[in-house]
Amino acid sequence: MTKLQEHDAMICRSCGNEERASEGYPCVDCGTFICVMCDMRGITRCKNCQTKRAAAAGAGETLPPPKTAG
Ligand SMILES: [Zn+2]
Ligand SMILES: [Zn+2]
Repeated sequence: MTKLQEHDAMICRSCGNEERASEGYPCVDCGTFICVMCDMRGITRCKNCQTKRAAAAGAGETLPPPKTAG
């Protein structure tokens, strides 16, 4: 039951799943493939770019202490 698919599958650079390229989206930063599942979850960047953005946003990785906001 192994049917060869068309060359339409790509590895999502965010979750690592192999999904249909025609249903995916490009990373807004580098243009690499992001699957539709990630897009639905609000992910628009690949793991690389997300890490970069997080690092840039937090420059130094000094997170504030966890507050019990409630
Ligand atoms: Zn994905
Ligand atoms: Zn990217």
